[in-house]
Amino acid sequence: MNLSSRLAEVAQQLPDKEAYVYEGERCTYGELNAAISKFASGLRNIGIQKGDHIALIVGNSPHFVIGLYGALRLGATVIPINPIYTPDEISYILTNGDVKAAIAFDLLVPLFAKMEARLPQVEHVIICETPQGKEQGISLTKKMKSFTDILLSGDVQYEGPTLADDDTAVILYTSGTTGKPKGAMLTHKNLYRNAQDIANYLKINEDDRVIATLPMFHVFCLTVALNAPLMNGGTVLIVPKFSPAKIFKLAREQKATIFAGVPTMYNFLYQYEEGNPDDFRTLRLCISGGASMPVALLKNFEKKFRVIVSEGYGLSEASPVTCFNPLDRPRKPGSIGTSIMNVENKVVNEFGEEVAVGEVGELVVRGPNVMKGYYKMPEETAHAIRDGWLYTGDLAKMDEEGYFYIVDRKKDMIIVGGYNVYPREVEEVLYSHPDVIEAAVIGVPDPNFGEAVKCFVVSKNPSLTEEELIDYCRERLAKYKVPSSIEFLEELPKNTTGKILRRALKEKLTSSQA
Ligand code: AMP
Repeated sequence: MNLSSRLAEVAQQLPDKEAYVYEGERCTYGELNAAISKFASGLRNIGIQKGDHIALIVGNSPHFVIGLYGALRLGATVIPINPIYTPDEISYILTNGDVKAAIAFDLLVPLFAKMEARLPQVEHVIICETPQGKEQGISLTKKMKSFTDILLSGDVQYEGPTLADDDTAVILYTSGTTGKPKGAMLTHKNLYRNAQDIANYLKINEDDRVIATLPMFHVFCLTVALNAPLMNGGTVLIVPKFSPAKIFKLAREQKATIFAGVPTMYNFLYQYEEGNPDDFRTLRLCISGGASMPVALLKNFEKKFRVIVSEGYGLSEASPVTCFNPLDRPRKPGSIGTSIMNVENKVVNEFGEEVAVGEVGELVVRGPNVMKGYYKMPEETAHAIRDGWLYTGDLAKMDEEGYFYIVDRKKDMIIVGGYNVYPREVEEVLYSHPDVIEAAVIGVPDPNFGEAVKCFVVSKNPSLTEEELIDYCRERLAKYKVPSSIEFLEELPKNTTGKILRRALKEKLTSSQA
């Protein structure tokens, strides 16, 4: 079984069930499956074959869903790319990823027209028409083809070739823990199994209506908010771009049952003054992942909206989910929960030996969800996967009941006078202050202690001072963890998934000092 064949099976069992809703437009499983077959055979008609690489550079939309599943049905490997990447970032991936065809929104036509000469191996550029593109009068170059034409030329009966479990289904470019972007190769088995394992764990089923507002090119949305509901007859509520107003309206109108987001989204929803808890009446579960969920925010959110927030953990290289807070056992705020079924997690020291309960070490993972390796990077693969375990680069500890706690990313740890300070611990204290909306902590060079703790804070109270907040931390943290300085900002830098970028704050600081 794989994503494409399971979707065909669901379409046979539930042809009239809604597969997705997009901007009020509904698509049933029967219609979606037919579109996938047509798009797959349309791709074959233009010469794309099993094993070819196809880049998918589109935001959350039916084009993404049909493009992804259509390419998979044909046996092609899909490389999802963030559409707002710069031309250099996109062309790096297209080249490194040996991409033969790219699917992109029409707004990227000028960019592709410019890049055509630089990317001779990209034989086809398939353009998805949008109302905005039409308005701007964007027209295709000779090399470009229309997504709709390809779809219309296809054969609805097309079933595609047989796919092997270990064939690469998707390559996800990720910065991982170090260096330049690497392509994590996820197989058909990796993606299918992780979607089903997380669906079983969180009981995602036919009755679920899941809000997909995280970007689909990111593995969190891909597996949890797209594949998991589609593999189980649920309905995906596609949101092209996150905004609190839209989420409240959609949740109410579409009777959403599950929301999946990163902590910053929960913060925006919590802070949104017009947010009516009644709009979330039908939600049975809010899923948080991608970054650590501040405990104060989790508790406040649950109280205000009367809905369960369950935090989990994952990474691109693990398709992504490895741990989640369970539904049928206690949830532990601040923890990423226990290992999901079929996946093993453990905490190890620098020799790869499991450490005692409660001790901090690196989190390593094993299971059917772990990637095949990085595309064309054997050395990086050998470093990431050792003795069958994926090294996550995250520091964690486990309690006696098997719940894991992410302490921080290994490389973000700050060393103050020989003592380890984990930014997350300081951030948790800052978030518990009633005036703090967002906080990020980094290490800065210090002549006496090697490094010092510096914080960036977004506050809702303009009269809150640095001194007051430092005093607040002093009452709650050991002396060496207390921030030496706090800077107030209007907002914190975030990536398109909504994760706060500590790295960007560090760079900003270094460039302002240069
Ligand atoms: P990505 O490959 O983009 O999905 O990023 C994976 C990284 O996100 C992990 O290695 C962690 O550093 C971080 N991450 C994901 N979930 C959590 C979580 N619940 N708590 C803390 N960090 C997380």
